[in-house]
Amino acid sequence: MNTRRKFIKLSILSSASLFITKQLFAHTAKKYDTVKDNAIVISTWDFGKAANAAAWEVLKNNGKALDAVEAGVKVPEADPDVQSVGLGGRPDRDGRVTLDACIMDEKNNCGSVACLEHIVHAISVARMVMEKTPHIILVGDGALQFALENGFKKENLLTAKSENEWKKWLEKTEYKPVMNIENEHYHPKGDKDNHDTIGMVAMDNNGDFSGACTTSGLSYKMHGRVGDSPIIGAGLFVDNEVGAATATGVGEEVIRIAGAHLIVEFMRNGDEPEVACRKAVERIIQKSPKDLKDVQVGFLAMNKKGEYGAYSLQKGFTYCIRSGKEEKIHDAKSAF
Ligand code: ASP
Repeated sequence: MNTRRKFIKLSILSSASLFITKQLFAHTAKKYDTVKDNAIVISTWDFGKAANAAAWEVLKNNGKALDAVEAGVKVPEADPDVQSVGLGGRPDRDGRVTLDACIMDEKNNCGSVACLEHIVHAISVARMVMEKTPHIILVGDGALQFALENGFKKENLLTAKSENEWKKWLEKTEYKPVMNIENEHYHPKGDKDNHDTIGMVAMDNNGDFSGACTTSGLSYKMHGRVGDSPIIGAGLFVDNEVGAATATGVGEEVIRIAGAHLIVEFMRNGDEPEVACRKAVERIIQKSPKDLKDVQVGFLAMNKKGEYGAYSLQKGFTYCIRSGKEEKIHDAKSAF
């Protein structure tokens, strides 16, 4: 090989290795940036803001999405002024506060409790079902027994306020799920506040997803009624390759179409989160045998890129987002 050819060959080789090295560094640098910026949490309704703040404390310190969503939804569970979740929740028609909750992590582990009485943090019981039992769902007395055996405290969840409202309801006993509940605690000036179930979905700095969903269910439901919130695939679904989705509103409509799972599948097929949520709402409209005029359902979803979106049947559904860049309450678009 003459010197000139050797020189050309060498310079080609060295520029190739320089290119590869650069690419490697670029990749590492990019990965680092992405990892740092990943964390994001979204949740349903205005009370999601305080819940997101608690979740954010975990996420910003490189905590796991699973710990973040549990810490987040425990906030409204413990707040007696949130009358649709945990302590202070509105009772069923027999005056019993029965809670539904579920949790799911990035490895498709999931746990759930339904119709659980006397325990404020239903979500933590659901997590314990996931981590300590061979099962996924425990209900009623069995769920309570499991909680008590595992150190949870038995409490009266029916506050005077919710009890008085129930007694007033008994005068007419008209069963009509309220579309968007007004809450003077959150909007003392009498503005509209809409809230029901808290559904929360988070991605941590590792890019892993988890979700949690917890509620006292529809007010004045029949005793024993279970909604969508503790049903994996209806009120909540996580697929770490794709993203996650959660639901709020009239659970019967959500269960009918396996709402959260459907949304994740739409995202898997390339739909952005808002489009996926809209398509799920349209599926309800298409499939429901009921008149949906007074029925609210809201869906909320996030994909692996950290893009999020929501859609509801009726106006009035709000959701909250918290990340390193944003802390906001959004109004969801709606079909009607
Ligand atoms: N989805 C809940 C249920 O059906 C209630 C709600 O979100 O308003 O129990």
